[in-house]
Amino acid sequence: MAFTCPDLPYAFDALEPRIDARTMEIHHGKHHAGYVAKLNDAVKGTALEGRSVVEIVSDLAAVPEKIRTAVRNNGGGHCNHSLFWTVMAPAGKGGGGKPTGELAKAIDASFGGFDKFKETFSNAAATRFGSGWAWLGIVKDGKLGVCSTPNQDNPLMKGIVECTCSPILGLDVWEHAYYLKYQNRRPDYIAAFFDVINWARVAENFKAGHAVL
Ligand code: MN
Repeated sequence: MAFTCPDLPYAFDALEPRIDARTMEIHHGKHHAGYVAKLNDAVKGTALEGRSVVEIVSDLAAVPEKIRTAVRNNGGGHCNHSLFWTVMAPAGKGGGGKPTGELAKAIDASFGGFDKFKETFSNAAATRFGSGWAWLGIVKDGKLGVCSTPNQDNPLMKGIVECTCSPILGLDVWEHAYYLKYQNRRPDYIAAFFDVINWARVAENFKAGHAVL
């Protein structure tokens, strides 16, 4: 079965004004859909057909060399965006605020408090040179870490990325994610993202030990 682009769990304009509807429409309908189409082209007729995208990106060494770069970029793109849409919700209606429960405890234990986490994550997102992602992930034994990856790399890509973890929250800092509204002001986009983080969903991911896609 071919990979498909998952529907957004809300309307294109649901995250306004933090993330504008036009950006969401192009980002989901053109960029994410494009990664899915190219991933399907790359794996067609190979043993990778029918495997999950998470399985595939977690073991790129097993991907035939001639399609490995295409799978890394487009499988990563599919995987990353599939997580990204689910960890956002309209501000004040599931989005924003702070985590609670076990996730809050883990953030406190790992970073020394929510504010410190926010600073660390925002810095990782702001300082990623060029295109890429910032992540909150489970490093080991419930301990959390923040890191960033270039391009469409995912922290599950062992042996390729500098930081490996099981990502539970990701922020897309490619210009296509924010340029229409924010132009060069990536820090403003990052600050706005915190108003739409779906902490309940991130907590579900934390509880499961991996992103629930
Ligand atoms: Mn993107």
